Order: sequence, then C-alpha cells, then structure tokens
Amino acid sequence: MSSNIRVRFAPSPTGPLHIGGVRTALYNYLFAAKNGGTFILRIEDTDQSRYVPGAENYIIRSLEWAGLMHTEGVGQGGDFGPYRQSERKEIYRQYAMQLIDSGHAYYAFDTPEELNDMRERMRKQGLPSPQYNAISRQYMKNSETLPREETQIRLDRGDKFVIRIKMPRKEEVKFEDMIRGWVAFQSDQLDDKVIFKSDGMPTYHLANVVDDHLMKISHVIRGEEWLPSTPLHVLLYRYLGWETERPQFAHLPLILRPDGNGKLSKRDGDRLGFPVFPLDWKNEENGDTASGFRERGFFPEPFINMLAFLGWNPGTEQEIFSKQELINAFDISRINKSGARFDFEKAKWYNQQYLKSLSDTTLAGELLPLLKQAGFNHPAGYVKEVCRLFKERVYFLNDFIQEGSYFFQQPAVYDKKIIRKKWNTSIQTIFSDLLATFKSLSQWDAGSIEIVIKALINQKNLKFGDILPVFRVMLCGTLAGPPIFEVAELLGKTETLQRMETFIKLNEA
Ligand code: GLU
Repeated sequence: MSSNIRVRFAPSPTGPLHIGGVRTALYNYLFAAKNGGTFILRIEDTDQSRYVPGAENYIIRSLEWAGLMHTEGVGQGGDFGPYRQSERKEIYRQYAMQLIDSGHAYYAFDTPEELNDMRERMRKQGLPSPQYNAISRQYMKNSETLPREETQIRLDRGDKFVIRIKMPRKEEVKFEDMIRGWVAFQSDQLDDKVIFKSDGMPTYHLANVVDDHLMKISHVIRGEEWLPSTPLHVLLYRYLGWETERPQFAHLPLILRPDGNGKLSKRDGDRLGFPVFPLDWKNEENGDTASGFRERGFFPEPFINMLAFLGWNPGTEQEIFSKQELINAFDISRINKSGARFDFEKAKWYNQQYLKSLSDTTLAGELLPLLKQAGFNHPAGYVKEVCRLFKERVYFLNDFIQEGSYFFQQPAVYDKKIIRKKWNTSIQTIFSDLLATFKSLSQWDAGSIEIVIKALINQKNLKFGDILPVFRVMLCGTLAGPPIFEVAELLGKTETLQRMETFIKLNEA
C-alpha cells in the first residue's frame, strides 16, 4: 500500500550533524517506516556564508552509519528533485514575486548602516529588541514607503534589495502542533523577515515552505528551535494559496545537558567528556575536530535506541528496542513536550546491553579486526572464549582490549596494594610449590585448577583470601575480572605457568 505520508529531514550543511539532528532524522525515519511513507533527505544550503565543505558528506555518512537511510532525496533521486536547495535557485524567485504581487511582501533597499541606525533609534526609545515590522517599516526605504516609480528605478538600475514578508500588524496566528497542541503567536511580536536576499537566493523560510509544498511533504517533524518560525511559515502557506494542503507540524523537545541546564550544544561534547556527534569530524578548512559516538565504540543499534528515548517513550517498561521494534512502537503522540536530558552513562548502558545480547561468535567477529589493529593475532576460537568470559564486564568493544588486555598479553603492571599486603616469603614458597604441582597436572581446566588450589589451602591451613587475589594478580595484574580458574584455563597451562614464574621472579621476597 503506498501512503501519502511524506516526511523530510532537511539539514543545513553548516557543520557536523549534532545528535539532536540525528534524533530528528530518526523520528522522521520511524514515522515514515511505521506508516508506509517516504523519508526524504533535502539539503538546505541557501545560506552560502555558512556553508562548510564536507558537512553534507558527513550528514549522509552519519545517516548511513545509524541505519537511517532515506529512500528519496540527495544521492537517491526521486520525482521531486533536485533535492539540494542551491540547485533549485530558480524555483524560489517566482514565489517571492507572487508574494509581492499579492501585497504580502515588499522590496527593501535599506543599507546595513540604515538598518543599524533604525535599531539604535529604537533602542534609544526604550525598545530592547528593535524589529523591522509593521511600524518601523514605515520609516525605512522600501516599496511600501517609496513612490512606485522610485522603486522601479531602483530595481531597473540594479540597486541591492531584499524581499521582506509584510507581517500583519495585529493578528493572531494559530496552528495545531502534533506534540504541543494549539500554539498561538501574535503577529505584532513577529518581524518582517527577509525571504529573498540580494544574492538571488531565498532565505531558509521561503525555500523551506516552497520545497515542503512542492515535495508534497505531509508532516514537518523538526526541532523545537523552529517553533518561533512556524507562524511565519503558516502565513507563507496562506499567502501562497496553499493553506489547505499545509503539512502538519510536530516540534520535538530540546535535548538538554546532563545537568538539565540548557540545550546540549555542539560545543558541549568534548568539553563534558562525551561525544555529541555521531562520527568523528574534521573541518578540512580550519582543522577543527570533534569526536563521534562511532569512534567512541558505540554500535548503531543501541545508539538509535538511546536517541529514540530522548524525548519519546513507548508507555511500557521496555527499554531495549531493535530498529524494527522502534518502528512498530513509534507514535508521535508519545513524544514529550519537555526537554530530554542527555545522560552519557545511560547511553553506555544501552551499548552494554546490546553488546551483551550478541552471540560470542558475532562479538568475536567484531573484535578480531580491532585486535589485529592493536597488534594481537589470537585465533578466533580463543577470542570467542574471551568474549564469553568478559562480555558482562564491558561497555565497548575496546574495553576487551583495554580492561581485558591480560587475555592478550602479560600484565605490564601488578596491583601494588595486593603485593604489599599479601606477598611475603612464606606465600612465595607456597606459590613455588603450586607452580610445581601445576606443572605435573595432566588435565588443564578450571575444575582441576580449582581442586589443586583448594587442596593446597586445606593442607596449609590457609584462607582463600591468602591465595586467590595473589593468583589473580599474577595472571591479570588487576583484582577485578571473571572467575579466575576459568581465566587460567583459557590462558592455558604454558601461559599461566609463565606468568606465575615471571611474577615470582620480579617480586622475589
Ligand atoms: N534547515 C533547517 C535545519 O537546519 C531545517 C529546519 C526544518 O526542518 O524545517 O534544521
């Protein structure tokens, strides 16, 4: 069944895509997938001054990694292209003209100095945020104030101009948001925004509305920061005669900093110690870098699972969702109005749950290339066993190599406290005996190792605490880890004996 549901993700390529942007893409994706609709990617690059090379490519790679690929739009094509606004330049002018002809927009010729003067004057009159609006436009140089002939002369001789929307003086602009319900703005609080610029390009507002209309977008799902622009968009639909086909709006709540203090910004990431971008980013022009979830060790599945919950919940206790389960459960009416706090510990938890759910074989398959990169060449069977033993203890694949390094190489350092507290001549003798017993052992498995150690403890009248922590530190360097007999079994007899000998030699009491 083909559906009329058409949604778009419409980022501007002004830098790397923030996780807030990925969440917007995700909700659009889920909504389309759930309703048999189409998910479109449109690149909004009308503001040439903010264009950052590499950003568009970054956006597409991020969506690919997160598994949120669009089926129509930039890179995919479709019946409503082109999908990059800079390639649609010619389309917008006629709509700006239509707005002028119908009296809903006008030419403005003010220079930057004149605009500054106007703002200064108004500030002096006690207006803290001066605007170009129904009142101040009367004192400015525009086709509303200039005689018709003068406007024409200026246009004919090529004076610089912008086209501004003519905001009504006093009118309530109302619309129903799918998340917030009825929202009303007073037009005297809104300004005569520029909709078309002197460089022949539309501004975001005009291009966005024209494209949503021409691309038959049924639902606009975007961040809350666009809510204040929506009354202008509503008016543009009305003035262009498209009101009855206007898309429905859904404005997503902000993603907040972990302490709840304000919006999680692009700058927060590396400063607060966690990524706020999906992938590592490098600005080729100025060398700026930022780190990404992928490189931090996140899998795409738990990454989107975590993002889905930043602002939405299924209304049940279930927290772990596959992408298909998210699609089935997703419902715009369950998106919250209030901001969602980002919690990196929770993000790690999602990754951990996902990692734990993978089979040992799959995990080993993921881990092997990383091990190779780190210079280890252990066989797949061995790595699989490491995964079985250690997967409960890691958040990321890299933790296997960092915290579980002793599976792949001799410990480089030993827990000093244990040596100080437990290591002495008599323990050293006991371990030398143990070493000899181990050597004569024909079976090397956790059970046999345990029997030998227990017998030794009984025989010498010792406590487990005298032997086991030392044994663990000999093999692993550290005190935490999976059951030590199993670790010894996996390391194998030769390696275990070698590590014991090394330790004893290094720490001769
Ligand atoms: N280009 C806008 C952005 O970067 C799109 C906003 C919208 O979806 O309407 O977020």
